[in-house]
Amino acid sequence: MRRSCAPSMLKVRELEKRRKIDKLFEKDEHRNDEVTTSSLNEESWGTSRNRGSQFEGQTVKENKDTFHTKIIFNVVWREMTKKKHKTWDGDGLLEVQLNTPRAVLKDSTGKYMGTNTKFEIDNLQEGYQMVVGGKEIELLEQITDSNQYFALKKQYAENRWNSEEQLQSKEATKKLKISPLYQSPYNVKNGVELNNETNQRNNAAEGSILTDTGKLSFNVVWREKTTKKNKIWNGDGVFDIHTDVKRGVLKDERGQEIGVVENVNLSDAVVGSILVVEDKEIEILDMVTNNKPQKLNVAKSNAPKPREKRALTKTNGFILPSPPENYLSELNPAFLPIHAVEVSYRLAQLLRPHQKDGIAFLYKCVMGFHNPKYRGCILADDMGLGKTLQCLTLAHTLLKEGPYGGERVLHRILVATPSSLTRNWEKEVNKWLKCERMYAFVAGGKHKLCSYSKQQHVPFVITSYEFLLANVSEFQCLQFDMLICDEGHRLKNESTKIVAALRELDIPRRIIITGTPVQNDLREFYSLAEFVNPGIFGNYQEFHLHFERPLQQSQSPEASIEVKNLAAERTRELMQISETFVLRRLQEVNGQYLPRKYEYICFVQPSELQQFLLQKALHLYTQRKETILKDLTPFQIITVLKKICNHPSLVARTKTPNLLTRTLERSLPDCTEMGPFDSSKLELVQHFLIASAIQNGEKCVLVSNHTKTLNMLQGLCDFLNIKCLRLDGSTSLGERNDNVEKFNSDSDDSLVFLLSAKAGGVGLNLIGASRLILFDNDWNPATDAQAISRIWRDGQTRDVHIYRLVTAGCIEEKIFQRQTAKISLGDCAIQNITQNNEDVMKFTAEDLSNLFCLQEDYSLCQTHENLNCNCNGDGENLTLEAQTNNRNINALMNWKHYKAPFDTNFLEDACLENASDNLMYIFCTQTE
Ligand SMILES: [Zn+2]
Repeated sequence: MRRSCAPSMLKVRELEKRRKIDKLFEKDEHRNDEVTTSSLNEESWGTSRNRGSQFEGQTVKENKDTFHTKIIFNVVWREMTKKKHKTWDGDGLLEVQLNTPRAVLKDSTGKYMGTNTKFEIDNLQEGYQMVVGGKEIELLEQITDSNQYFALKKQYAENRWNSEEQLQSKEATKKLKISPLYQSPYNVKNGVELNNETNQRNNAAEGSILTDTGKLSFNVVWREKTTKKNKIWNGDGVFDIHTDVKRGVLKDERGQEIGVVENVNLSDAVVGSILVVEDKEIEILDMVTNNKPQKLNVAKSNAPKPREKRALTKTNGFILPSPPENYLSELNPAFLPIHAVEVSYRLAQLLRPHQKDGIAFLYKCVMGFHNPKYRGCILADDMGLGKTLQCLTLAHTLLKEGPYGGERVLHRILVATPSSLTRNWEKEVNKWLKCERMYAFVAGGKHKLCSYSKQQHVPFVITSYEFLLANVSEFQCLQFDMLICDEGHRLKNESTKIVAALRELDIPRRIIITGTPVQNDLREFYSLAEFVNPGIFGNYQEFHLHFERPLQQSQSPEASIEVKNLAAERTRELMQISETFVLRRLQEVNGQYLPRKYEYICFVQPSELQQFLLQKALHLYTQRKETILKDLTPFQIITVLKKICNHPSLVARTKTPNLLTRTLERSLPDCTEMGPFDSSKLELVQHFLIASAIQNGEKCVLVSNHTKTLNMLQGLCDFLNIKCLRLDGSTSLGERNDNVEKFNSDSDDSLVFLLSAKAGGVGLNLIGASRLILFDNDWNPATDAQAISRIWRDGQTRDVHIYRLVTAGCIEEKIFQRQTAKISLGDCAIQNITQNNEDVMKFTAEDLSNLFCLQEDYSLCQTHENLNCNCNGDGENLTLEAQTNNRNINALMNWKHYKAPFDTNFLEDACLENASDNLMYIFCTQTE
């Protein structure tokens, strides 16, 4: 076989480096041989035992008992879902007992999650999906090294211990820091440090600043004097003490004088003390040392104001909608004066227009403006649109005031989240509301709810669904005014315990936050709606008869016009009701506030070795009936084809070889002869890294769905001497945070971040990079979208370049086409309501033959051909007609496209200038 030429950069490589990458390919090759020999002589044992003994053969040297009878996989898991757009909830381990087939799932802290005893051991290999304990899981790589396994277990235990420990000490330091602020001087005697500090400040003040001006200024918060138990500050201000006449003057944030007090005792003016100024109470925050008040937040007064004055008095924040006249008697039975509710200026100036809209919407929902009977809503905005900030801003505003006489609406808020997000919520509360002196209490682990002290400055209680479920009765003892359920699609099944538990808390206002469209599955949608607004659609039977059944019936091919009309009418009705409590906006609304995003779909022609192997594999598959491969499943062949596309060597590097991979392996050249050039995608990445990382010093993220492929990419980075960081299913929590922080800091010299597409959870932020390569596509477009949002999100300051690599003319291009078809169907809620859910891995015979068909002629781009585009393949001279005809069918039609040979400037911008050898086609689009 003729081998592709090594590119010029490679010619200068040192032997040393070459060896490095070879070693990477060698390691598994060896292990593989071992497996093959040990398993082949045990034919009579049957396949399942076979694997057990393979394992034994490998690990008996390790002399660790567990490993004789067990195989272990790294896995990702999620709650069962019928959604099309699925994402994984977390990482874990699957421990499989071989003698009595039994698979035990544990989460990333080692906690037991469920067992499955009905499975074929033969199926257990990377990429296989199964259900364990009600969770869907996908197997990642197998852990074959017992030391690694025990290290991992130890790490899990440590993680658990550390996170609790950390939580405790953090909580403690936080208390230390904030508590003096809330103590009057009488209580300060415990806080020795604080006294010293304030004394020093006072001394300093009495020294220089005082003599200069005869005036001391303090930043303060103030409120109307009240006997109410739950006091809240009305606003910020400045308290000036004119030391010569001992007079104190209180000014509000606009500099308006709002109170004067005579005979001020200077020694009273220490940080944390509460003083009375006429009819107001103030608390001293700190001293203004430059003699100019700090830039103040514009806060609002709590006093009721006549409506018409609104425009005059409130100009800086943004004002929320007023209550509707038609419901006023129900909403405001005491006929209190209507007060304009305003989002504080400090927060308002951070909000984007869509976020302001969102907050106004949430406000109308929880205040019952649409209908006083219903106070719940579902915020289903796309990832990255700031759902948390919208909720926190709403909470903050209503913790301070309300529309009826200014009286505040909320006193305490419960936030329920998956356990992985509790810290994240605490961080968000601190980030946005700390300077407003609002804090959160995280209940969980050792932090029992009884240690929560109901202080007014800790209005947020954050907890995980699991902890809440285990401690419902404690939560019942507290009065909450609003509930926020993050990742709220967990509540999509009405009969689960967690739904029942949350209902028992009987919290009047409920917000569900979810990133997935909620209207795709009507049953689930009903459950969520029923949870936030009980009774809004009647009982399920009624809902089913009125909405669900007509819509289902209209799906049948024989459906009559009447049936279809009825369905359309009911869809409209359903949408009309939903619009009053469901809000979903897509990523695009955010796009205009982010830097530009360039997306490239790069079609590469498979290398000669790849072409040969793809043909061979498909030949073996089509002839399987007559050979020993007769039991070959479509799933197995798909897995192998995908591996060939990533790199031929991956076929051999499997720890659970089947007959197909063993046969193909014999066709592979010697591992020392293989290199990056045997995978067109890997070769492209190599040239890309040389251009972007090495020459431009730009940071990039490389994403793959497969651990082995990440290993290979890591090998490439080593080979190019590029420092890289990595996050996959086996990365510990602590390491994760470290790596992400490192990568995002300018001081670190790691240029590549290797990311497993399914690891990392929702919040992972890699804005240190401005380029990202999706090395392989997932069947599920949501996985890729999530990966892209790692770098194209809030905080990113540079233009972002996203590359999808597609091996042309084979299964990868087919997967890609399936994906784009899904996206076009994807986000239009109305059409989707009636869409039947289809399982991604279910294919019709026709689908399969299409998937397995190989292209002969690589001068044509199949995806472009399918578009029926009438250009010459270069995207030029399009007729308008063709464009509009296709726009609805395929979003790709709006993409620019280029075929080889490419414009050099274009390639340079894309850092692909040396990668054009195998590049045959590029689709490209950019945000405006
Ligand atoms: Zn075209």
